[in-house]
Amino acid sequence: MGKLGFVQVEVSTKCQLNCLMCPKSVFRNEWIAKDMEMDVFESIPFKKFRYAHLQGWGEPLLNPKIGDMIEFAREHCKVGLTTNGILIDRYLEDVLNLDLLAVSIASAGAEEHKAVRGFELEKLKERIKLVSEQDKRPKIVIATMMLRSTIGRLPEIVDLAYECGADEVIANNMDYIPSENLVGMEVFGEKPDPSVLDLIKKAEDRAKELGIKFVAKPVKLEEALVCAENPVENCLITVDGKIAPCVYLHLPTRSDYIVRYFRGRRVEVPKVYFESFDEWKNSSVRDAFEKRLQMLYQSLPMEFPALPDVCRTCYKAWSV
Ligand code: SF4
Repeated sequence: MGKLGFVQVEVSTKCQLNCLMCPKSVFRNEWIAKDMEMDVFESIPFKKFRYAHLQGWGEPLLNPKIGDMIEFAREHCKVGLTTNGILIDRYLEDVLNLDLLAVSIASAGAEEHKAVRGFELEKLKERIKLVSEQDKRPKIVIATMMLRSTIGRLPEIVDLAYECGADEVIANNMDYIPSENLVGMEVFGEKPDPSVLDLIKKAEDRAKELGIKFVAKPVKLEEALVCAENPVENCLITVDGKIAPCVYLHLPTRSDYIVRYFRGRRVEVPKVYFESFDEWKNSSVRDAFEKRLQMLYQSLPMEFPALPDVCRTCYKAWSV
């Protein structure tokens, strides 16, 4: 049997920052901040997967064992992580062992970046350059989130990425809205705003000029056959070693439920975990998406099986 897609591993649920849109800030009173233990990490069957992304809800470089973890996982598959960038200089040698390094940047504007993420943009740029200037280095991706308050400077993020020596910019959506205060800050909708589409196009054109890759997530809500997390091929291992279909069905909080705001409405969905990989493979969430994918190969037009209940109110199931 061929390898599965990616395993996302939540190596730490701690973070030094309190970003506006992060569930850690919203649910700070019930957040369980901890590092994954090395024995839990070593029990993950990395050889089943093509790629391991060492990040869940938290900052991976805060786990003091991160260097050993990268070393261990890369014996079996490609390895990457997303970081807020603060500790890149301290873990430079380990970071250089990665295949992919994604660094989160809120905005190309120093003030806006600081307002959202609470860390100096200039210092972050220096840390990215520290990696890009090395001969043997991972692919560097600048990950940004398209918010109403920051999208105006999206094309400038491409310039910033180029200036830092990054290879790619990915513009994500606020696809999980954990608080009512954040409703309306997303840029996607049933009918995408023409000014948002225009800014995305400008960023794309700028990336072409500079010769770097640019990917923006869709901003039009429409039901996806299978969400981008694709739980048929991929899964999450939580900080405690539990298996979940994706980060959107897990939060390191004391509650058994996840609060989401979907189309302006507050909903609660149960967290979803499996005891074993076999249980995950036979789960109803995975099965529903597998059946939806199989419909692609049917010659007769048939109705798609419904989205799983827990996915119906997840924006990832609506293509953004
Ligand atoms: S649609 Fe379902 S499986 Fe996909 S990311 Fe959302 S909650 Fe996870």
